[in-house]
Amino acid sequence: MTQHNFKKKFGQNFISDKNLLDAICDDGEVTKDDLVLEIGAGMGSLTTALSSHAKKVKSFEIDRDLKEHLSSLNLPNVEFVFGDVMDFTLKQIENGLEDGYKMVANLPYYITSPIIFKFLKSDNLTSLTIMVQKEVAQRIIAKEGDKNYGVLSIMIAFYGNAQIKRIVSRKLFYPQPNVDSAIVNIKVERDRFEGVDEEKFYKFICSAFSMRRKTLKNNLLQSGLLQECLARLSPDLLTKRPEEFSVSQFVEIYLKLFG
Ligand code: SAM
Repeated sequence: MTQHNFKKKFGQNFISDKNLLDAICDDGEVTKDDLVLEIGAGMGSLTTALSSHAKKVKSFEIDRDLKEHLSSLNLPNVEFVFGDVMDFTLKQIENGLEDGYKMVANLPYYITSPIIFKFLKSDNLTSLTIMVQKEVAQRIIAKEGDKNYGVLSIMIAFYGNAQIKRIVSRKLFYPQPNVDSAIVNIKVERDRFEGVDEEKFYKFICSAFSMRRKTLKNNLLQSGLLQECLARLSPDLLTKRPEEFSVSQFVEIYLKLFG
C-alpha cells in the first residue's frame, strides 16, 4: 500500500506481529466452523490471520482510505463493510451471522465500552476476544471489593465470564500508543439471571454507582427511588457501598425492588 495517513481520531494503532496475530486467533478459539466479526480492519493484518483460521469473517472499517488496500488483499472468505459500526443496527451488522458468531477485534480505544455494550445485547454473539487498553481490561475482569470494580465489570459479569488472556506491550503497535494493552476473552452466557429487564438493570447499576463513596441507600435515594421502596431491603445492605456487592447480589437487590 502507498503510505497510509494514520488517523488518531479513529484509534488507529495497528499490529503486524505474526505470532501475536495467531495468538489472538487462538485466544478466540477460532476454528474453521466459525463465523467471525471484526470491528476495525485497519490494514487487514488481523483480518488476514482470521481469514485463515475461520470459515467466514465480516469486518467493519470506518476509514474509507483503507478500502483500496483491503480489497487488494483478495481474501475470499472476508466481507468488508465500510462505515461507522455504531451507525448500523445489530440486525444489519449480523446479516449473514445469524447462526452464531464470535467477535475478534483489536478495538478502537475511543469507543471500547460503547461497542461492548452494543454487542453484549446480541442473541447471536457467543464470545468476544478483544484487544483493549490494559486499564480497561482490569476494569472488565474486576470483582467486588477491587478498586477497578464498577458498572463495566458488573454488566460484563451479568452477561458472561471474562478473563485476561495476555498483556500486550505498547511496543507491538504502530504508531506506538502511550499505554499497554490486553486481550480479554468474554464468553457470553445468556440468561444467567432470569426475570431481569436488561435496560432497567443497567440503569439501576448506574444509579447505584453514581457516587462510589456513598452508600447504596444514598445513591438510590438520589436517583429518585423512594424510601418506602428501599424499606424492602435489609438495613445492612443499605449501609454498604456499591463496590461491595457482587453481580448476583445486585440482581437479588434489583429483584426485591423491581421484580
Ligand atoms: N485490526 C487492525 C490491527 O489490529 O492492526 C486495526 C486496529 S485499530 C486499533 C482500530 C481500527 O478500527 C482502525 O482501523 C480504525 O480506523 C477502525 N475504527 C475506528 N472507529 C471505528 C468505527 N466506529 N467503526 C468501524 N471501524 C472503526
